[in-house]
Amino acid sequence: MTSLPLIPVDPDARGRRPAMPPRHLADLDLPGRRALVTELGEPGFRAKQVSNHYFGRLVRDPAQMTDLPAATRERLAGSLLPTLLTPVRELACDDGATRKALWRLHDGSLVESVLMGYPDRVTVCISSQAGCGMACPFCATGQAGLTRNLSTAEIVDQAVYLAGVAASGAVAGSPPRLSHVVFMGMGEPLANYSRVVAAIRRLVAPAPEGLGLSQRHITVSTVGLVPAIRRLASEDLSVTLALSLHAPDDELRDELVPVNQRWKVSEVLDAAWDYAATTGRRVSIEYAMIKDVNDQPWRADLLGRLLAGKLAHVNLIPLNPTPGSRWDASPKPVEREFVRRLRDAGVSTTVRDTRGREIDGACGQLAAAEDRDTEPRTATA
Ligand code: SAH
Repeated sequence: MTSLPLIPVDPDARGRRPAMPPRHLADLDLPGRRALVTELGEPGFRAKQVSNHYFGRLVRDPAQMTDLPAATRERLAGSLLPTLLTPVRELACDDGATRKALWRLHDGSLVESVLMGYPDRVTVCISSQAGCGMACPFCATGQAGLTRNLSTAEIVDQAVYLAGVAASGAVAGSPPRLSHVVFMGMGEPLANYSRVVAAIRRLVAPAPEGLGLSQRHITVSTVGLVPAIRRLASEDLSVTLALSLHAPDDELRDELVPVNQRWKVSEVLDAAWDYAATTGRRVSIEYAMIKDVNDQPWRADLLGRLLAGKLAHVNLIPLNPTPGSRWDASPKPVEREFVRRLRDAGVSTTVRDTRGREIDGACGQLAAAEDRDTEPRTATA
């Protein structure tokens, strides 16, 4: 069977315009917010005040914005901070160190984010699209297809909201300040390119313009959209790139990551090495270990040859089997042998922890669907 080359389409460009949410201050940079506030008939400096509440203090309740005149608080907050994410459900596991949030967006779409606390850092995993169009067969999000791109503010607000949860001390044993953001939730970030880049700019801009995170603490994970990787390298941002490789050979990668039918392993790795050279950042190579599919010793050796001497780190992810999946995680001895062969080839390799498995919050398990709401499933771990 031959399949057509899969070219990611920006859903906005297809004529059928999805309903985007109301404008929010996180969609705009500080000058843009100032212009908006002026349009609303308020002095421009109010933009900075509201931004400081939202990004600096993680406050969104107008009643707490006591430096604003009481008469304009509601109106300003209503115009600049419309509700984008309505929490539907929050689940915790790992003794509260992992929390998954399910949000409903203004059009009823559902997306998820995950907050993970460690002794030295707090990470949020955020979504960039409702659903995903990349159709990777082992990923739960990929099964349902793409609903729409998230707006810049819908992306940013996931991080700001969960930064507030962390600041409230909810993640015991971790610092209260959000430090890391990974674009490893639902969606393909580079298929929603301009909004994702704008969201990154908000995340790294110092308060009150943004959340003030370090660029190096932001990771964008991609199936490998080559032109977008090259464009990202030219953005003057040095965020970490994670490449979801999952197979070192085109025959298997064509199946596991269908976009490989468009951009082959060699092309995507070339783009990754150019990204590393431009930014000085080590590229993270993501590889889900799937039993008897991509975990053979010869594939470890081939991967080792492709990566040896490159600015790369391999992150092996034990496969999280998704509902109805024909695939399983590799047995631990097979995983250990894979790691050993990569390290022997001189490639730095670690195995990712599987935080959030029992709340379906681990990699590839995010698949917020209405039907799942009414049919609680048993734990998969
Ligand atoms: N679309 C982006 C980001 C989302 S997924 C990307 O593909 O990179 C984040 C990571 O989880 C990716 O490496 C993805 O391949 C991996 N993943 C998806 N489903 C998984 C599963 N069932 N088990 C383990 N990892 C999975």
